[in-house]
Amino acid sequence: MMLRSGLQIDSRNAQTQHENTTPSVKQRSPVLESMVSNEKRSISEPSMQQLSQKVRVISQESSWWELFGVDWTIILFWEISFFVGVWLLSFNSRLYFAVGMLLMGLNYGMIKTKGSHLAAHNALCHSKRWGKVWKHLFLEFQGTFSVDAACDIHIKVHHPYTNVIGLGDSSTWRVPFLPCYIYMFIAPLVLPLLTPVVGLGYLVQERRWRRLSQCSLLAFLGLASQTLLVMAAAKLSAVKAVLVLLLSRCVMEIPYLHINIFQHIGLPMYDKNNKPPRLHLMANGALNLTRTWLLDLNFGHSLINCHTEHHLFPQLSDNMCLKIKPAVQEYLQRYGLPYHEKDYTERLHYFVKNYKDLMVKMPPITEFVGIQ
Ligand SMILES: [Zn+2]
Repeated sequence: MMLRSGLQIDSRNAQTQHENTTPSVKQRSPVLESMVSNEKRSISEPSMQQLSQKVRVISQESSWWELFGVDWTIILFWEISFFVGVWLLSFNSRLYFAVGMLLMGLNYGMIKTKGSHLAAHNALCHSKRWGKVWKHLFLEFQGTFSVDAACDIHIKVHHPYTNVIGLGDSSTWRVPFLPCYIYMFIAPLVLPLLTPVVGLGYLVQERRWRRLSQCSLLAFLGLASQTLLVMAAAKLSAVKAVLVLLLSRCVMEIPYLHINIFQHIGLPMYDKNNKPPRLHLMANGALNLTRTWLLDLNFGHSLINCHTEHHLFPQLSDNMCLKIKPAVQEYLQRYGLPYHEKDYTERLHYFVKNYKDLMVKMPPITEFVGIQ
């Protein structure tokens, strides 16, 4: 309701301004009339087209370094961290062993979020062929998940139907039978085991047998090569090396679960047949977490402090989402549209306090009033 009245006020102001500065309707030619009405529309109503044009200009003026280079450097940093972590396991020191596992865990945190997410969106390069390579590398070989599941669930459903009940409403993250603290702080630690089961289970459910065999092979090769490295460095048996690998993968799983629910749940939800236009859907239904250096670097801006920008322009890399952020924020706020920003700890308290309403009961449908 506030949204609608805000826009009506903007619209009236814009109209008044035009009435004061343009000739009367009787004097206008049809061409002038159409120009004036276009101009009026562009001043009084926000449009995805107009915002896209602004973002296109920023992208066109950006160098390869800004488009992809910054993110590849961060990815490379975390990839090297994995090997440093494995090397640290070879020292006869508990401290070095713990630091080694921490680095391996941070590498997996990056693979599961930044690497896989950007690869799934083809946001790591211009080439489609290379884009495919990065998808299989990050999602299947290193992430032990399925490219098909990621693309079908995240790209084809969650993005176009953000906060639409029964589709992209993040309800797959709900486990209503789990008590709050177990769900928020213990259950995420099971995710490294659950992730391959969900990925391969999806391919079985969809009866994509060829993809199932390809994905299983890549995931097995990835796990096997990492296990062999751990076995060689730490002089451990295969079973113990797999356990070390799985334990290290728990390092970033708690914040991983948190960010997935913080970004959308608790915001307006819509019915499929009555959802607002894309710009309004994303402005209302996505939330940015304030900047945190570790999450920015490990998970990426598009999942942390630029999630609204990412939902509006999912093909952009993390660094580009950060670059367009001021323009997007200014545009949404100029037209009285929401621009949700919250602190991680504030969201954590909010979810713990309202766990039953947010994570157990179904979210209420917000009937969208206004601007279609
Ligand atoms: Zn995405």
